[in-house]
Amino acid sequence: MSAQANPQVLFDRQDIAAAVRKLAAEISKDYQSKSPLLIGVLKGSFMFMADIIRFLDFPLEVDFIRLSSYARGTESSGKVNVVQGLHSQVRGREVLVIEDIIDTGLTIAFLLDYLQKKRPASLKLCALTDKPSRHRVPVTIDYLGFTVPDKFLVGYGLDWDEKFRNLPDICVLEE
Ligand code: 5GP
Ligand code: MG
Repeated sequence: MSAQANPQVLFDRQDIAAAVRKLAAEISKDYQSKSPLLIGVLKGSFMFMADIIRFLDFPLEVDFIRLSSYARGTESSGKVNVVQGLHSQVRGREVLVIEDIIDTGLTIAFLLDYLQKKRPASLKLCALTDKPSRHRVPVTIDYLGFTVPDKFLVGYGLDWDEKFRNLPDICVLEE
């Protein structure tokens, strides 16, 4: 795969805006009076987080965590580390994790376990995209934007080798 690869649009900005609104409506219904802590998984979820919280008009807090990611390749190693930790207290909070994509599920399984050990009042997952055919561990996604095929996606925050995060559409990077 080269940096000159031509990303093909899978979901355009209108599709994304509609999905974001739908998810925000579901989240609003469940969290209206709960002052949740939204935890975004860096870097990929930054754009999704920024868009979705604009439609949540109730008190909430935002924090980010950065986990070790694929090293220049497209396959998960299964080994996950916290590279940049949280600043917020998780204990007793209503926590909603905001993730860009669930692939094998190994990253999110690690993160949910890591957060559960901090004893939140509740812990749920909102994912923009999911590749169910790739799961290697069971994952429960409470709020899901798009089910996607087993293709490498870029754009709307998602990168290939740090490139393409700025594309406003979710695209497939063809080999
Ligand atoms: P998992 O641990 O579920 O296999 O992988 C999760 C992480 O791998 C995601 O948070 C994301 O950083 C990265 N990833 C998985 N699939 C894709 C993809 O299609 N495109 C991009 N850009 N990153 C992906
Ligand atoms: Mg990610």
